[in-house]
Amino acid sequence: MLRHLALTLRRWGGWLLDAVYPRDCFFCGRPSGDSQICQACYERLSLARNPACLICGAESAMPEGPDFVCSDCLHHRPAFARAFVAARYEGDIRDLIHAFKYHGGLWLTDDLVRILVGVYIGRIVPLRLGIDAVVPVPMLLRKRRKRGYNQAEELARLLAAQLHLPYFPKALKRVHTGVLSQTRLARGERLANAKRAYRTRRAEPLRDRTVLLIDDVLTTGATCDACAHALRAAGAKRVYVLALARPLFL
Ligand SMILES: [Zn+2]
Ligand SMILES: [Zn+2]
Repeated sequence: MLRHLALTLRRWGGWLLDAVYPRDCFFCGRPSGDSQICQACYERLSLARNPACLICGAESAMPEGPDFVCSDCLHHRPAFARAFVAARYEGDIRDLIHAFKYHGGLWLTDDLVRILVGVYIGRIVPLRLGIDAVVPVPMLLRKRRKRGYNQAEELARLLAAQLHLPYFPKALKRVHTGVLSQTRLARGERLANAKRAYRTRRAEPLRDRTVLLIDDVLTTGATCDACAHALRAAGAKRVYVLALARPLFL
């Protein structure tokens, strides 16, 4: 109950404060209208990346052609058809995501979704993929309770609302598997572990839908691979991934 109240306050607190104080830009501190990032700082955000793998969205360190597929995807094709990534996980983007995720920065949701909508309109719409479901990457219930929210869910809900796409917040479930730190495991073990960790809920009508899976940061892609695997096992036609950022190197 208290936790719910705290979350509600956190969610609406920004609006209440706006009524009293004008918003200041996250980066430069100047008044920023009804956004948390002023237009000048928004235009300066580092959204440029090197050419990325056509499937998993991993950036290449080398100049590559537009049909570049990384060696990981050549060896193991993920269960999702393609991942779209907005930015490299560093600098200003990393600061934003960090505040959003670890410092209760739900007031940044609008601005982060604005970045995702930009990718959707600029890169996904022209491909006519027929997306008809938006699903967030789930979080362990215990972790969600501690944080008060699942950041992927917050992004996915607003994105789906702005794009008028059907939203399935509970399509996937993260179950506890007692996994050690994912980064300490070999690739094969990581994938096997991840597959055990994500399940679909039977009630969700995902059959024959083309799903857009939303995450904040893609690291190895194993999580999205496992989620896509579960969604396809539940009858989803195809799964695409949209994430805010991915590190250049792990
Ligand atoms: Zn600014
Ligand atoms: Zn790849």
